[in-house]
Amino acid sequence: MDCIFCKIAAGEIPSNKVYEDDQIVAFYDLDPQAPVHVLLIPKEHIASANELNDRNSEVVGHIYLTAARIAKELHLDNGYRIVNNCGVDGGQTVGHLHFHLLGGRSMKWPPG
Ligand code: AMP
Ligand code: ZN
Repeated sequence: MDCIFCKIAAGEIPSNKVYEDDQIVAFYDLDPQAPVHVLLIPKEHIASANELNDRNSEVVGHIYLTAARIAKELHLDNGYRIVNNCGVDGGQTVGHLHFHLLGGRSMKWPPG
């Protein structure tokens, strides 16, 4: 399958990794939208939040716990934002489930 994040998970495409274990990878976004912009992905190919189900959704909790730990390690003591874009209207551009960890500046609400 021609999926850029599967290739990053497999180490076939280079990335600036922050964390990796048997289930997930976290790496810096190539086009950062905040002073800290890390992407967290499951190693398993899940196309979007719409493809989560009873068998594969446990990894989302693991991603959130890891994001909170990375935020602490990167000193995002004032807070941070975790974003999942789903589908066209959600602004999803890569068809492999990912969560943006954004921090280091004050975030706006509502998002654009
Ligand atoms: P989304 O728009 O939510 O689908 O987010 C996709 C994100 O992946 C964007 O923020 C891109 O900058 C980022 N991205 C795309 N290709 C790469 C890559 N090879 N390494 C790191 N980040 C990437
Ligand atoms: Zn994939």
